[in-house]
Amino acid sequence: YLQINNLHKHFETKNGTLVVLKDINMTIKEGEFICAVGASGSGKSTLLRQIAGLDMPTSGEVRIDGEVVTGPGPDRGMVFQHYTLYPWMSVQENTEFGLKLQGVPKKIRREQASYYLNVVGLTNFANSLPKELSGGMKQRVAIARALVSEPKVLLMDEPFGALDIHTKESMHEFMLDLWQRTNITIFMITHDVEEAVFLANRIYALGSRPGTVRKEIKVKLPDRTHTVKRHSIFHDY
Ligand code: ATP
Ligand code: MG
Repeated sequence: YLQINNLHKHFETKNGTLVVLKDINMTIKEGEFICAVGASGSGKSTLLRQIAGLDMPTSGEVRIDGEVVTGPGPDRGMVFQHYTLYPWMSVQENTEFGLKLQGVPKKIRREQASYYLNVVGLTNFANSLPKELSGGMKQRVAIARALVSEPKVLLMDEPFGALDIHTKESMHEFMLDLWQRTNITIFMITHDVEEAVFLANRIYALGSRPGTVRKEIKVKLPDRTHTVKRHSIFHDY
């Protein structure tokens, strides 16, 4: 479904070539909830940017449904750590904005945005401004905004890193619930291994130094019929 083949990313710096991603290969099936973990500087955001098409890898390819989508192309919904909502736009307008840029007619983008605001439980806040919302709610708007153009995969870069522990926990339950309800494919980056173990059905670990080869930790598939139960992990190293 989502395939990353022989992906390399180098940066040319004044001290020479920095190898950040080295021969990354991942195969993600439709409906999986994947987390990639790694220390700060291990290349997590760089990896996500290549998958999102926000950057061009040095070599290698990204495929969705077998089609090469390396570089800018079909929408892959992205959620960042710091919400990146427009403060002067209402929740509804923020959610619609991507569709507006794509030239989707007003009526359809209204309906589509309302649908996804309902999915994230924020129908009653459609006319609020971001500053009137809590951190967790803002992140739910960011999720609705990412889902509104119905991307093949929801990409998240440390989405809960800025939240307090209680909000974070409620967002974890929210994510598992969302995943079960929508069956969407999720690829999430985090440095928090516990978070990854709690959420993901499979985890990739990036090496702590840039350019080191990642390992894959196999995690027992969670039972999709109920939420939030800690599952044990099976290390293969
Ligand atoms: P964090 O947990 O702090 O967000 P990360 O795992 O997301 O870290 P990246 O942001 O992907 O790490 O960065 C990985 C390495 O690549 C770092 O050494 C960083 O300095 C370097 N790097 C990232 N982007 C660029 C760039 N545009 N030019 C040069 N070097 C870069
Ligand atoms: Mg990062």
